[in-house]
Amino acid sequence: MKTTTCDNHEPNFLRVEEALHNIEQNLKPIRGEEQLAIRSALDRILAEDVLSQINVPPYNNSAMDGYAVRGADLPTKDKAVLTLVGSSLAGRPCVEAIQAEQCARIFTGAVIPAGTDTVIMQEHVEKQGDTIIIGAEHKPGQHVRPLGEDIAVGQVVLKAGKRLSPADIGLLASLGIPEVKVKRRLRVAFFSTGDELCAVGEVPQSGQIYDSNRYTLYGMLNRLGVDIIDMGIVLDKPEDIENAFLLAASNNDAIITSGGVSVGEADYVTDTLRRLGEVNFWKVAMKPGKPLTYGKVQGAVFFGLPGNPVSAMVTFYQFVQSALQRMMGQESVTPIRFTVPCISPLKKSPGRMEFQRGILQTGEQGHLVVRSSGKQGSGILSSMSQANCFIILPLECGKVAAGSDVLVEPFELG
Ligand code: AMP
Ligand code: MG
Repeated sequence: MKTTTCDNHEPNFLRVEEALHNIEQNLKPIRGEEQLAIRSALDRILAEDVLSQINVPPYNNSAMDGYAVRGADLPTKDKAVLTLVGSSLAGRPCVEAIQAEQCARIFTGAVIPAGTDTVIMQEHVEKQGDTIIIGAEHKPGQHVRPLGEDIAVGQVVLKAGKRLSPADIGLLASLGIPEVKVKRRLRVAFFSTGDELCAVGEVPQSGQIYDSNRYTLYGMLNRLGVDIIDMGIVLDKPEDIENAFLLAASNNDAIITSGGVSVGEADYVTDTLRRLGEVNFWKVAMKPGKPLTYGKVQGAVFFGLPGNPVSAMVTFYQFVQSALQRMMGQESVTPIRFTVPCISPLKKSPGRMEFQRGILQTGEQGHLVVRSSGKQGSGILSSMSQANCFIILPLECGKVAAGSDVLVEPFELG
């Protein structure tokens, strides 16, 4: 792995885009697949293309309630009189073949009877006993949904790498496909480092704080649909950190830690990783989340996130999430970003790309606007809890006046 640096303002800082590129360069999708019933495959990643074995719709059918007629019987001028000889209902096709100057009653979704190819809406006919009278305004083939119009036999309906949504599993059901091959779940282990950390449920001693990073990480990982191995809190002792690394690396695809990656006295994560595996330590030109360690330990991909609660979340969303998705075999994981007016002023100095916490909402006249969710310190989790998007401010930009357009990336809609 090669580390490049950015010489803008801070000589050894790496740009966010470069860090992202360096991470992605070294990642490959995991091997291993399993066959699952389609309901169990929800949110899993498809391991192979799915081809349709059938046509959808499976037969020509009516798009309207009305009368099935022969296109050849449509009058070119004046009117035509056709005799009603049968009916076709959804699930109960017409048994009679329709001859010249005959027609059949038909309802939406019903099979187009043999001999016919056109449907006249019931509002457009004059019914007299067992005959209908039609005018010259109709076109042959109208109001017929042809066989295979939606999907043809052999067509690829879902591509390998797709994360299966509710619509996807419904689509599979509509094709009569009961099972699909998906990627096995990624195994991700994580632990928090820090002598000051107290587990929730225990009584904090003087100078201790509760460990929240294992909860935010759990939440974000859970949503990605990975198998989660929570290894708890590890003290700032090189041998404890080393043991935790080795244990985590023995049976997992990825390891995530928080804390201990800056250059403080008790920051052993990067040193330990250097001894056991391959390391890239970066000071990324971003705020929050400056220090970030990325590497490998015995085949497992390693992410060392900063300890500050918001920094850990921001670095997860910006670097780890897409990396894990790539490892899971998921295609097209580009985040959705767009520009909206920001209704609050934002503080910012040039030199780092900032991921400020914002609240995206529907403003007056239905237009989206964003505002800051409050104090932006890297330890302030409450403004992260209130936020539903990042406001992404480029490295070069300074403070933002209220009313300016800003780039946002939602992470918590609905
Ligand atoms: P570090 O990156 O280890 O220097 O930690 C930076 C800041 O984040 C310190 O104030 C830590 O106390 C805090 N911190 C580290 N880990 C956690 C955690 N798991 N939960 C909450 N705060 C943390
Ligand atoms: Mg620490």
